[in-house]
Amino acid sequence: MPVKGRFAPSPSGRMHLGNLFSFLLAWLSVRSQGGTLVLRIEDLDPVRCLPSHAWQLMDDLEWLGLTWDEGGGTASYWQSNRSHLYAAAFEKLAARGLTYPCFCSRIQRLNEAPHVHEVSPSCPCAALTAEEVAAHSLEKTPSYRLRVPHKTISFTDGLQGPYSQDLATGCGDFPIKRADGAWAYQLAVVVDDAAMGVTQVVRGRDLLSSTPRQLWLYEALGLPAPEFCHVPLLLAPDGRRLAKRDADLDMGALRRRYAPEELLGLLAQLAGQQATPAPVSAPQLAAAFDWAKVPKEDIPVDAQLLQ
Ligand code: GLU
Repeated sequence: MPVKGRFAPSPSGRMHLGNLFSFLLAWLSVRSQGGTLVLRIEDLDPVRCLPSHAWQLMDDLEWLGLTWDEGGGTASYWQSNRSHLYAAAFEKLAARGLTYPCFCSRIQRLNEAPHVHEVSPSCPCAALTAEEVAAHSLEKTPSYRLRVPHKTISFTDGLQGPYSQDLATGCGDFPIKRADGAWAYQLAVVVDDAAMGVTQVVRGRDLLSSTPRQLWLYEALGLPAPEFCHVPLLLAPDGRRLAKRDADLDMGALRRRYAPEELLGLLAQLAGQQATPAPVSAPQLAAAFDWAKVPKEDIPVDAQLLQ
């Protein structure tokens, strides 16, 4: 079966070098195997995501020659237009008794488990009776969580190797719908990757620990799961991850400083594909792409690049 990959950006700001590094690897993996790519806009958060960022991102990818075959400007590939699909998946999970309303406040949850952000291994709401739910609902609109089984999910990541997580202790029942009605990333990404026929997910290593939750969703929804390859993150010289706030490394600054082939040369060196940052085109890189040369560990970016 031909490989189908995807770019799944959240348009919450200008793309930066770290995003670009993951996208380049997703593109190279697919193109080197003669596969196709989807560009899906993950604009679930109406406050942080702006259409202008999405259009800018497409322009930045085109400038680099990172082409896609489906999606992009097509409205039905924007998550904000796909709520009906998330609602249908939610109903399916609810019908299986796998969801429950959660009335906890975010503050309460953070106090209970200060070391984790969105997880609540034993949310007290899991055990509410129908009467209690009805009473709480009069005062507060709930979020909804997905129940996780006492089960270890194991898979082999294409780059990182074997990975396991016990769902109950490693993440706990997790949110799939927010109290304000917004669908959670975990649900939307699974529904969309399955609906779009994605067979290979290449993304940053920061999402490795989300994958067992997503594999549980695939199983609970009866959908086939793709292969996963979690690529290293780029680190600033002080060890922190590059982020959208590093305006000096966003595409605006990078486009002023480099030609597309120069920037691809720098990224190709970071990705272990060539010994020097010699300028190179995206198709040239695809022709010689080798996953075995891609580093597994996060990659410090030379201070020179940041100047
Ligand atoms: N939209 C997510 C992000 O930009 C990526 C989701 C994914 O690749 O699964 O962080």
